[in-house]
Amino acid sequence: MKAFRQGDGQIALFRPEFNCKRMQQGAARLCLQAPPAEIFMQALKELVEVEARWVPDDAMSSLYIRPTLIGSEAFLGVRPAREILFFILLSPVGPYYARGQAPTKIWVEDRAVRAAPGGLGATKAGANYAASLQSAFHAKQKGFDQVLWLDSQHEGIEEVGTMNVFWVLKDEIVTPALNGSILAGGMRDSVIQLLRHEGARVSERLITMSEIIECKNNGTLLEAFGTGTAAVISPIGELYYKEIRHVLNKGEVGSVSARLYEIISGIQRGRRPDEFGWMKPLSGL
Ligand SMILES: *Cc1c(COP(=O)(O)O)cnc(C)c1O
Repeated sequence: MKAFRQGDGQIALFRPEFNCKRMQQGAARLCLQAPPAEIFMQALKELVEVEARWVPDDAMSSLYIRPTLIGSEAFLGVRPAREILFFILLSPVGPYYARGQAPTKIWVEDRAVRAAPGGLGATKAGANYAASLQSAFHAKQKGFDQVLWLDSQHEGIEEVGTMNVFWVLKDEIVTPALNGSILAGGMRDSVIQLLRHEGARVSERLITMSEIIECKNNGTLLEAFGTGTAAVISPIGELYYKEIRHVLNKGEVGSVSARLYEIISGIQRGRRPDEFGWMKPLSGL
């Protein structure tokens, strides 16, 4: 998650309860014991208070916060850990992409899969990042920024890099339904809430590469973007699939992407009213 410096100098966190709940759900899947919500919140509050001078003032920067659980006992063998360490990593961060909100070039990965039904895909586990490294590395070598992950049938779209993905069609905004192998991001949830509040038609459903290519070819795919804590909104400029390069929205930042970024970063920094109750002042944790 992230903490943000507000206009009045105070510090506020974006959706800490969501992150606490996610750690508890993820821990259960990994047979780890997460701290109860009160301890999680107290640890977070005390640590960020002690390290408050590391929360940047700069409007593009924030304090990145990564609460972590690991089994920590000395034991060889496979069974649930009996000794668990809970710790929180902090780091001041600038904008996620060096080039700013420039649209990304995406390699559609149609061989390796990040996550499979029944596996760990919906859990924020280190193992998922390990599973994604090789494809991401190959994509970078070929000059792409991220990969688009497909399901185990190599057809249904799942996520983009370590972000959830949204497709803006002519009269519907689609994001893949949470099918068990997709991570339920806090930014995904926030974007859905915001768009629905504005009256947009948002569908959480299966969306396939065939449908995307068809929409691209008939002009009904207007723009696409990834969502996550780190980048907030990351517009997709280009998809490379089955040796064909598909440029989206002329490779420019789309209007939905630009508007969502502006609204969400405005809420995070206290420049816009927090209608959804996402921000928690550090002093009130
Ligand atoms: C962290 C993560 C996301 C985004 O989650 P947020 O809560 O929005 O930051 C999406 N997909 C994967 C695989 C992730 O690890």
